[in-house]
Amino acid sequence: MTPEGEALLRQGAAELGLNVDAQVPAFAALLDLLVDANSRVNLTALKTEPDIILKHFVDSLSCLRGGHLDGADLRVLDIGTGAGFPTLPLAIMNLQTDFTPLDSIRKKIDFVRAAAAALNLTNVTPQVGRAETLGRDPDHRERYDRVVCRAVAALPILAELGLPLLKAGGRLVAQKGPISEDELRAGRRAAGEVGGRLTVVDAFTLPVLGDARTLVVIEKTGPTPAKYPRREGVPNQQPLF
Ligand code: SAM
Repeated sequence: MTPEGEALLRQGAAELGLNVDAQVPAFAALLDLLVDANSRVNLTALKTEPDIILKHFVDSLSCLRGGHLDGADLRVLDIGTGAGFPTLPLAIMNLQTDFTPLDSIRKKIDFVRAAAAALNLTNVTPQVGRAETLGRDPDHRERYDRVVCRAVAALPILAELGLPLLKAGGRLVAQKGPISEDELRAGRRAAGEVGGRLTVVDAFTLPVLGDARTLVVIEKTGPTPAKYPRREGVPNQQPLF
C-alpha cells in the first residue's frame, strides 16, 4: 500500500470513528492479495488502490456504524460476500467475532478462503452456497446472531433470505446505497412476514467520497414461518412485496 493509500485508509476509518493503526498491515496485505487475484480472475470491478481502499475497505467498515455488530462472541453470516466484503475488513477489525462469508460462486469463496488463511483470520469460515439452501439447513437456520450483506438485493429479498438464519433477537444489517420509500415500505412488510421488524434506517455519506449510503436493520422479533425461505431463486424472481 502506498503512503497515499495508507493515509486514505486512516482518514476514512477516522471519519467512521475507527482507529486502524494496528490493522494497517493486514489491510495492506489484503490489498496486495486482491490486486494479484484480480489480475488472474475477475473478482471485483474495483481495480485501483484508492477505489479498493475507499469503496471496499472503508465502505465495509461503515457496517460498524451504530454498534449493531458490537457484542461478545457473535456469529455473523455475510450473505453474498463476493470477494469478501464486508466480511474481510470487519474480521480484521473484530478478531473476537466469528464470520461466515457465503457466496454461491465458488471462485469468489476460494479467494476469501485463501485471503483469510494468508491473513491468519481464524475467525473466518467461508462457505459456498445459496442463502435459500442454508436457511433450510438445521446447521445454519436460526444459528446466527447477525446477518450482514452489502450490495446484494432489495430489502424484501434480503428479509426473506436473512431472517431464517437469525436466532431470536438477532439482527439483519443491510448496507445499501440510497434507498427509496417504496423499497423501505416493501422491506417493512416483508420483515413482518418473516418474523422481523425494521427498526433502523441510518442514512449517511461514505467518508472522503461523500457517496450516499444507508444501513438498514431488521430485528428478529418472532419465529420465521417454516415456508421461508422459498426455494432457490424464488425470493429474487417473486419478492414477497
Ligand atoms: N457483498 C459483496 C460486495 O459488496 O462487494 C458482493 C456484492 S455482489 C454485487 C453480490 C454477490 O451476492 C454475488 O457474488 C452473488 O454471487 C451473491 N449472491 C446473490 N444472491 C445470493 C444468494 N441467494 N446466496 C448466496 N450468494 C448470493
